[in-house]
Amino acid sequence: MAPVIYPTTNFTATEQLCLDRGEGIYVYDTDGNKYIEGLAGLWCTSLGYSNTEVMDAITEQLHKLPFSHTFGGKTHAPIMQLAQKLKAMVPVEDAYVFFGNSGSDANDTHVKMLRYYFNAIGKPEKRKIITRERGYHGVTVAAGSLTSLPANLAHFDAPLEALHILRSDAPHYYTGRQGNETEAQFTDRIIGNLEQQILAEDPDTIAAMIVEPVTGASGVIVPPEGYYEKLQVLLRKHGILVWADEVITGFGRTGADFGCTAMGIKPDLMTFAKQLSSAYFPISASVIPGWMYEAMINQTNEVGVFGHGYTYSGHPAACAAALKTLEIYERDNLFEHAAEVGAYMQAQLRGIFTDHPLVGEVRGIGLIAALELVSNKTTGASFDKGAAGAAAQKACEANGLIIRAVAGNAVALCPPIIITKDEVDDMLARLKTAIDSAYGDLKDKDLL
Ligand code: PMP
Repeated sequence: MAPVIYPTTNFTATEQLCLDRGEGIYVYDTDGNKYIEGLAGLWCTSLGYSNTEVMDAITEQLHKLPFSHTFGGKTHAPIMQLAQKLKAMVPVEDAYVFFGNSGSDANDTHVKMLRYYFNAIGKPEKRKIITRERGYHGVTVAAGSLTSLPANLAHFDAPLEALHILRSDAPHYYTGRQGNETEAQFTDRIIGNLEQQILAEDPDTIAAMIVEPVTGASGVIVPPEGYYEKLQVLLRKHGILVWADEVITGFGRTGADFGCTAMGIKPDLMTFAKQLSSAYFPISASVIPGWMYEAMINQTNEVGVFGHGYTYSGHPAACAAALKTLEIYERDNLFEHAAEVGAYMQAQLRGIFTDHPLVGEVRGIGLIAALELVSNKTTGASFDKGAAGAAAQKACEANGLIIRAVAGNAVALCPPIIITKDEVDDMLARLKTAIDSAYGDLKDKDLL
């Protein structure tokens, strides 16, 4: 083992796959084996692995100005151009953008932005943030407290008490329904639970609710029809801001420009990372509406400097990578492409796997999807310790496909959005062989 502490890895684990190079939707390991990158790295390499235009934009910028900080209003052309570009794209009124380096730090920025804003307007008591069970928002101390996955909370004394995090139901009908509840009844019940919670806590103490329009790490949950409409009516009624974490769903992933557009969400705050630069250079963006910015200008004398910023906030090469990525999305109509190929992928997935004995639910939208692996198709019973997820992940790799087992026994798919229909066919054929083989494996081990 190299002296590396690998992220999100058991300390007893040994090194797994060593990747060497990539081309289009494919990656190659150091033994020359070729894989389809079915998860776009970690839901991020939207343009695939050999986009020379983005690489050239980065190197050109490095040659010109490899670094400039942006503290105290110091600036450079790429950061100003990128903020203008995002302002024109995002569904936030008169948007202003703070840049960081990762999805986690972008969410931390908003936690602090909310504190700063409510202090600035004289409402310091409005400080609680609602998150959802199974949500994933990163791993830094604040973002990690918003995340609800057990491994990200256990052993870190998270959530940090000072953050006043409230947790509400995950909007997953398949695993969350009670008895014979319909989807509509499930939705009404969990919205009702949230209203009770808001009233019990006092709405005047709640700043915002963070949602992933469609979740990723918790198993690709697409909430029921009508959920977001009712959620927003409830939050607006109680003066709670809507904060969309678009770190995975931003930029074409769902077949729309943003997850908010696909799911009918009108957000106040947004966070982006990953596909913002197709992951060729780390960059994140925390977006706020103009009215919030204006309110902070007016109150700045009382609360003082916004004392938050990273050395690499708006790194020139990162901004250049993002600007080129956004230009390519637009020029090549990649969001429309993702909508078309995504609809095809969803239809094929349902056709192939709906009746598979190991698959309880096929879900997803656009180019993000998951299969829920179950030990009993009728009851939806799951496997202990992610046994099926691990078996499927291993079988996929043996068949030249990289996917990710998430939330125990769900298999997530999230290929680069440049993927073609023929490549989708190839990916799903490999997935079918792998799921069949995992099914055999689990039977051999008497787990079925
Ligand atoms: N939010 C969401 C919705 C994510 O999926 C992720 C990462 N998977 C993050 C935040 C954190 O991003 P990062 O790993 O870049 O810190």
